[in-house]
Amino acid sequence: PPAASAVDLAKVYGFGDTQVIALGGVSVEFAAGQFTAIMGPSGSGKSTLMHCMAALDSPTSGKVYIGEVELSSLKDKELTRIRRDRLGFIFQAFNLVPTLNAKENITLPLDIAGQDIDKEWFDTVVRTVGLADRLKHKPNELSGGQQQRVACARALVSRPDIIFADEPTGNLDSRSGAEILAFLRNSVRELGQTIVMVTHDPGAAAYADRVLFLGDGQIVDEMFDPSAEKVL
Ligand code: ADP
Ligand code: ADP
Repeated sequence: PPAASAVDLAKVYGFGDTQVIALGGVSVEFAAGQFTAIMGPSGSGKSTLMHCMAALDSPTSGKVYIGEVELSSLKDKELTRIRRDRLGFIFQAFNLVPTLNAKENITLPLDIAGQDIDKEWFDTVVRTVGLADRLKHKPNELSGGQQQRVACARALVSRPDIIFADEPTGNLDSRSGAEILAFLRNSVRELGQTIVMVTHDPGAAAYADRVLFLGDGQIVDEMFDPSAEKVL
């Protein structure tokens, strides 16, 4: 099966005559090992789609599958476990714990879950994001680019089935942003990671294998092997 998929996903906000259709029946598959970018104008439903796929929000109707598991059939406890064990998150604001150093931030999800750290995998992830000499640093001792690399390592370390990245380069200068994007692409190529990334930046979307374009809560276009010129 795909790493994740949605069938006829709809999300309606509000009641009565103030309804907003954020998603109007979206069906989509995210293949394992694929890097998908989601683009579209502000208000087109990008965040809503990502939040429903990532079990952070529940749709009004339709189904979301993580692998073969259909989310609406799950209790809160099981949803929490899916988010923890099978999904990874990267946000625009790096969301690191300020009192913990880089290493402790990276291993936090495993520590919370009471899972052992696979030393070899940890070293691979840290090497891939280029943080080997920064592990003892606290977030305020790291640049923005380095903080986002810590967040990427934290997302990868539990070997999630899929990583959801919400404007991961939104707070970075273009050079640091390019490093993060190259790293995300490498984690797809070399580690087989599956990634879904929301972005409004055509240059960022060009790092993906595939771009979905949303408009008014619908998928209005799809492109494979994008380049920045094609996305624009
Ligand atoms: P995007 O991420 O593409 O900017 P969103 O998914 O955030 O779009 O929003 C899609 C539509 O749903 C917009 O019209 C937005 O105003 C509306 N919307 C999003 N969240 C809420 C909410 N919590 N309550 C009411 N309307 C919302
Ligand atoms: P990057 O391109 O990775 O974002 P910068 O060129 O901004 O890195 O930063 C260069 C060095 O300065 C980094 O290695 C980092 O250790 C240090 N540095 C950058 N920003 C800060 C900060 N806000 N506080 C402490 N150290 C910082």
